[in-house]
Amino acid sequence: MPCILVHELKIKNGANESRRMLVRTKEDTAREWCKSVIVVTHRSCERGMMVILDTKNQQRATVEFPDNPEKPTTIKDFFIKIYGVDAMEKVVDECSTDYIESKLREDMETIEVWKREIPIGKYTLKINSESKDRLLLITEVATDEKHLLQCQSEGGTMVYEIPFPLKPASDYVVQAFYGSSLGPGKYSLSAHAHFEFRTAMLQKHVQLLYNRASEFCRPARRCAIYHLYRNKPRHYFEKIRSGGGVMTKYLKNNGGDQASPLNRSIQGLFFSAHYKYSPDGWPYLPERSPFGDQRLHVALPFFVNPNNNMYFADFFCHYKNHHVTLVITKAGSYSDQFCKQHLIPVDKMNNPFLYYNHWQNTCFTNVDLNIELFYTENIDIGYLMYHDYAYFSFCKVIGNSKGKSFIGQMKNKECQKCNLTSEEIIEPVL
Ligand SMILES: [Zn+2]
Repeated sequence: MPCILVHELKIKNGANESRRMLVRTKEDTAREWCKSVIVVTHRSCERGMMVILDTKNQQRATVEFPDNPEKPTTIKDFFIKIYGVDAMEKVVDECSTDYIESKLREDMETIEVWKREIPIGKYTLKINSESKDRLLLITEVATDEKHLLQCQSEGGTMVYEIPFPLKPASDYVVQAFYGSSLGPGKYSLSAHAHFEFRTAMLQKHVQLLYNRASEFCRPARRCAIYHLYRNKPRHYFEKIRSGGGVMTKYLKNNGGDQASPLNRSIQGLFFSAHYKYSPDGWPYLPERSPFGDQRLHVALPFFVNPNNNMYFADFFCHYKNHHVTLVITKAGSYSDQFCKQHLIPVDKMNNPFLYYNHWQNTCFTNVDLNIELFYTENIDIGYLMYHDYAYFSFCKVIGNSKGKSFIGQMKNKECQKCNLTSEEIIEPVL
């Protein structure tokens, strides 16, 4: 395939030094180019520049970099990146000069995922910057497919809906350039940001994880349990006590599988059903916890009862032990609706993880997994204590409790037992 010349560019700085750049590409690729986005940054200058050209009609162009007389630029220290973009905003080609570290200010905390409609892959970002003009380069990591999108606002915070569907359970990188208009197709750049995220898996993927988790713990070794527990530092419970006794739910962090639909979607409180076992099979509570020295024990019928529903949300490991996250919702609540749409409903009386046995009037847990339960309502501790549904105990702390509970530990991506293969994500076999 012959190469053809797409652009003949002249880069000029304030000292009237110039540099010529010839942009060539394969003929069929060039046919798809609709616009060319040229990003210019400099080793010693805190500002950058962006020029957008109509590829077919502006083959020859001069890019003039406005200089600050106090901080002159040298022509050899410009870094020039060119993206060829098609009519659908997809990047069909890119080229650049040797990489030079730019001085553009980094504004890292400015992007987050604001809203997601998981089944249709619709994602909305929240972008917070003072600049009016923003250029977003969204890259799908696995395929390196890129889209270059322009968005404008009055400055400050804006929500921006990505105009094409994202694939489920996939990693994306958003690079943002922030600037302001200098005239038609010409922008100054003042800052940039880098943001990575993983899209949520679909319900059919959660079903595959459910299957993996049930295979993992077969044949089931179970044990009767009567309470779930929640470890927190002493001051956490003291604050609740002095504030009226209600423990309020909060948004789940990003721990566990990064693609779990539960992450940052609904609020709740985590409890554990994890026990240790003596060599002769007797359960006992772990002597230490990474989450705090005070332990609240709540009787299981408070969670597992006819007014609540149970869902399977996640199966993961960090180092050694495998974890399963179950969600308990109040039937008919907002969280219940969410779980019904995105997670796997579990029969409270008959499942491989944690269930109630009617004949024995007792709950059983699977001893081969660390079962964690996310309860999606506030809990009035005073009420539970009064009715003998709850009590406190103390234990030792390991590690830094703050860091662990807030950020959440990521899943071990190397484990073949609890990670779906890329084939399963693309075309799930149920
Ligand atoms: Zn694993």
